[in-house]
Amino acid sequence: MEYTNVSIPAFEPTPLETIPAIASAARGAFRSHRTKSLQWRQVQLRKFYWAVEDYKPQLLAALQKDLHKSTFESLLTEIDWLKKDCIFMLDHLESFAKDEKLGSPAVPAVYSIMKMRVRKDPVGTVLIIGPYNFPVQLLLAPFIGAIGAGCTAVVKPSELTPACAMVIKEMIEKRLDNDAFAVVNGGIPETTALMNEKWDKVFFTGSATVGKIIARKAAETLTPVVLELGGKNPAFVTKKANLALAARRLLWGKTLNAGQVCLSQNYILVDKDVVTTFIEHLKQAYREMFPNGAKASPDFARVVNQRHFFRLKKMLDDTKGKIVMGGAMDESELFIEPTAVLVNSVNDSMMQEESFGPIFSIYPVNSLDEALNIANLVHRTPLSLFSFGSKAENERILNEMTSGGATVNDSYFHATLNTVPFGGVGDSGWGAYRGKASFDCFTHFRTIAEPPSWAESLMRVRYMPYDLSRLSM
Ligand code: NAD
Repeated sequence: MEYTNVSIPAFEPTPLETIPAIASAARGAFRSHRTKSLQWRQVQLRKFYWAVEDYKPQLLAALQKDLHKSTFESLLTEIDWLKKDCIFMLDHLESFAKDEKLGSPAVPAVYSIMKMRVRKDPVGTVLIIGPYNFPVQLLLAPFIGAIGAGCTAVVKPSELTPACAMVIKEMIEKRLDNDAFAVVNGGIPETTALMNEKWDKVFFTGSATVGKIIARKAAETLTPVVLELGGKNPAFVTKKANLALAARRLLWGKTLNAGQVCLSQNYILVDKDVVTTFIEHLKQAYREMFPNGAKASPDFARVVNQRHFFRLKKMLDDTKGKIVMGGAMDESELFIEPTAVLVNSVNDSMMQEESFGPIFSIYPVNSLDEALNIANLVHRTPLSLFSFGSKAENERILNEMTSGGATVNDSYFHATLNTVPFGGVGDSGWGAYRGKASFDCFTHFRTIAEPPSWAESLMRVRYMPYDLSRLSM
């Protein structure tokens, strides 16, 4: 579908000198305490839901303009995704926000009369920084968590997807509480100016390189950060796998959004006895998905910009491996065909970098032992892992290799359901969100103790002058 009638304003970075006032307004709105009322949060969430619905044409047009995303993918992975997250938060908000009663120790007896609970306080004013690959969803799904938790927030979309950034700015600022929520547009100078402000939490999704810059800066003011980063994700295909199914599902994982997905597999470790058959199934799946080739398909997205196009091209130019599927490119369209490269060394350019595009390697292995050794060598804590084998093999893979999340027998599912937490581990990320985790991520779990005043005679034992014999009470 073409969206030629929808007009999107030209990209305008937020003036640097206005950023302190924007942050200050968000902090002021938090200090007004209005965000603590559940009713206020529910109203903002409902407004957000309808804003996403009403701005659907602009969002679809912007996603097509920035990434050549098809309507199907934009609805599935961005717009409907957010609407589902928003409804989930609205449906569960009261129960998430309710105080939790805690038990008190039975001994000594005096403790058993304490009333203990955990209050769910919003952490405060938060900054959310988004990446370019799912420029709407990855910025605004955490934002839903922040609204639900009762925080105020400033969001910073990726400047690499300028049309989306402008639509998001208009949508949030026209529809939601204007002091509590704001959008700052821009790249490094604007993000640096934002990081010079004091936040109660920073939620960053993007590369590990920039994640380190954000974490380092946040450490100066002891600001907690959530980092959702990337990694070199492995897939395992053993002799016992359903090879046709594995090939189709893994190919989907590398063609959705032209493989610009933090979760998608970077490389597939395939038992050498079945590698030829696996590649045949991969080619068959390619023909079924793209009967006229990926370039002619209205469904296949493009690489976001020239920098990323040439980065991916270099990975392919430098490989010592053999291209067994795809390989076509067209710079004028930023098109790179879904491409599989057969490699035999962890030092190959295709194994050394996160591809974050429609290219991936296939690495034949002699055994599951060898596959696990290679995967642990390439990246010990990737964001995700996909295993296609027998039940026992899949369990062994989960046991002997860590990852932020994993899907057995398919691609992506551990990260697509809106009821379950998603996040990395080690250097692929700190913290998680989605489902209840989105609420928890922006919540301070505050323990409250209420010792009754009537129990003073029992509680006097702690006062000086101390008497050791009273400790046995
Ligand atoms: P990026 O790190 O280049 O940019 C992310 C954000 O940081 C953008 O908003 C950008 O404006 C800002 N930024 C860039 N350079 C900066 C600097 N020097 N100082 C301050 N801010 C800066 O990431 P990207 O290219 O947009 O996204 C791709 C990367 O993100 C991949 O590594 C991918 O794996 C990862 N990613 C992770 C997840 C996840 O959920 N774990 C999701 C999507 C993408």
